[in-house]
Amino acid sequence: MKIVIIGAGIMGTTFATLAKELAPDLDITILERLDAAGAGNSWAFNNAGTGHEANCELNYTPVDGEVISLEKALKIHAQFNVAKQFWAYLVEKGAVKQPKTFINQTKHCTLVSESSIEELKLRFEEMSVHHFFEHMRYSEDFDEIKSWIPFTMDGRPRHEKMAATVIETGTDVNFGSLTEQMAAHAEHSLGVKIEYGTHVKRAYRSPTGRWIISADTKGDPVEYKADVLFVGAGGGAFPLLKKSHLPFRSRYTGFPVGGRFLQAPISEEQAQLYKAKTYGRAKVGAPPMSVPHLDLRAVEGKHYLLFGPFASFKPLLEKGRGFFDYLGSIRYMISPAY
Ligand SMILES: Cc1cc2nc3c(=O)[nH]c(=O)nc-3n(C[C@H](O)[C@H](O)[C@H](O)COP(=O)(O)OP(=O)(O)OC[C@H]3O[C@@H](n4cnc5c(N)ncnc54)[C@H](O)[C@@H]3O)c2cc1C
Repeated sequence: MKIVIIGAGIMGTTFATLAKELAPDLDITILERLDAAGAGNSWAFNNAGTGHEANCELNYTPVDGEVISLEKALKIHAQFNVAKQFWAYLVEKGAVKQPKTFINQTKHCTLVSESSIEELKLRFEEMSVHHFFEHMRYSEDFDEIKSWIPFTMDGRPRHEKMAATVIETGTDVNFGSLTEQMAAHAEHSLGVKIEYGTHVKRAYRSPTGRWIISADTKGDPVEYKADVLFVGAGGGAFPLLKKSHLPFRSRYTGFPVGGRFLQAPISEEQAQLYKAKTYGRAKVGAPPMSVPHLDLRAVEGKHYLLFGPFASFKPLLEKGRGFFDYLGSIRYMISPAY
């Protein structure tokens, strides 16, 4: 069976690696526009590197009155544990290098001001009885919170009412490094072909059921055929979806907003002092991506503090692409149904 994957980000390389581990005979080709794997959204500084497992993100535990729902939190925690097991397997096999090249232990904290204290307390009471979160601690004590997350508390007045929870065993993940290492392993040890510098322009299903993929390799047109197509193209999936023959394509679009972080290199000593990711509370109705957080990041042996995200206007669907890409992906449509 021939599989074509568009995009060598964390999604495309994970899919290729898993598929090859389960069925070594599969014929898999990854088509990647850039010259390296993991250089898009998965690149270290294009995301916050939080190993999301619901330790500190309030948006996974919606509250309705005095009732809190843990359903999403339990699901995401379990899923992240499966990912960690898969990565441990890759390390054991020698497929990726030392774990610290892509994953590091970091405290996961939630810090809220007075108006959200009751919610955080309820969250703590309900979550800490479950074995997933049994090591969660809660405090309203200024000094104790400051001992967990000093940089976040520096300069705050002591009389300000605040509450926090902490879980010591959260993670900071360098998805870019993990992607690069998985891609190298997939290519050199599992027999996955990766065609870098190959920009897929269009993919559609022929009447025979096979996928036809038209691409451009360094200026030359090239066509691929596949039984299964996996689109792991990040923001680049929208233009491809729009040009596909899929019936639901017109219902989707992207918005030209992104997230940017303030970033500062810090010393090893400062990193040891903070060693945390602290999530706050976003405004009611704001998208989960807008939750403010202060993150310790470990990238290629150096430490950084990231604060954000700040919303950015960026009508580019993918790194290095044209300014009018976003406009080009919009279609005029009259459809009262949607
Ligand atoms: C501000 C922000 C903060 C985030 N923070 C976190 C976080 O803390 N934790 C977390 O887990 N996630 C976080 N994310 C999300 C995370 O970054 C993404 O979910 C993840 O990187 C997506 O991986 P991907 O493989 O789907 O996409 P990408 O990594 O973008 O990979 C897509 C690849 O496809 C290639 N491509 C695109 N179009 C084409 C084409 N037509 N032909 C050939 N190749 C193509 C691209 O060049 C790219 O290499 C954050 C995202 C943002 C924006």
